[in-house]
Amino acid sequence: MTTLPAPTTLAPTSEVLLEKRRELESPKVEETKSKDGPRTFAATLNAASIPFYAVHLIAAFGIWKLGFSWSGVALAVGLYYVRMFGVTGGYHRYFSHATFKTGRVFQFILAVLAMTSSQKGVLWWAAHHRVHHKESDKPTDVHSKKQDGFFWSHVGWILSRRYDDTLYSEIPDFAKYPELVFINRHWYIVPATFGVGLFLAGGWFALVWGFFVSTALLWHGTFSINSVAHWFGRRRYQTTDESKNSFSLALVTLGEGWHNNHHYFPKSCSQGFYWWEIDVTYYVIRALALVGIVWDIKEVPAKIRDRRMERKRAA
Ligand SMILES: [Zn+2]
Ligand SMILES: [Zn+2]
Repeated sequence: MTTLPAPTTLAPTSEVLLEKRRELESPKVEETKSKDGPRTFAATLNAASIPFYAVHLIAAFGIWKLGFSWSGVALAVGLYYVRMFGVTGGYHRYFSHATFKTGRVFQFILAVLAMTSSQKGVLWWAAHHRVHHKESDKPTDVHSKKQDGFFWSHVGWILSRRYDDTLYSEIPDFAKYPELVFINRHWYIVPATFGVGLFLAGGWFALVWGFFVSTALLWHGTFSINSVAHWFGRRRYQTTDESKNSFSLALVTLGEGWHNNHHYFPKSCSQGFYWWEIDVTYYVIRALALVGIVWDIKEVPAKIRDRRMERKRAA
């Protein structure tokens, strides 16, 4: 696969133009936060929430109409995991935390793959996630079960209109790529093309199982990290938030279940800190590094990783 080096410098004129465009397009974090109000179910009652519920209803209606089939389940689960890699390896470990490097072409492919999950634009996703790490479980966290309950942390914050804007000021490192700004702004093109492509390739069967059923599952799999992983599980590290580690969530999310590890050291590409902590996303990224598609994979230093154990021994 062809990879291009990421541009490291920009000409002064393009810097000025980009800064101007950012000013025009991007509200400051403070402005977005000032839109805050009561974080309740009532705040999610708006027309923009309709597609979320519609996807669930069409998935259920489609299964009833087409009848249950194992080949349908295999298609839904297969596309769930392929796209889950886009969410975890793309949205999360690359765009939110920059835990590895790649070229500009593969960066774009990762963004598109992530966005087939229909979780809005890549810059929107990553910028809000950066705020989650800065403000985790404080009143200013965009999705905190501790502060606002399970529903809000799981999906309420997305369905409300409060966080519709992309916080460009949180993500200047990726907002400098015009192709990412473009697909971020027109994010719906990606899942729509994915759905139409499935229909053309395999008719209603592919559309219902591969898009509607698979996407509904993928949403809840992803959102469980914001809700369940701040609720159930074990805590290895005394982080300032309520993040937990969970083996079963790690299986469902290709390794994101080691959420307490992740909040403790978000710069690490691997979220499973020990060999027994299964982290499929990390294995795939390692495999991509072997063939030269990605490089500079960041790891947690053993000294920092084992700190809790040292303290335990000393006690
Ligand atoms: Zn978290
Ligand atoms: Zn994170």
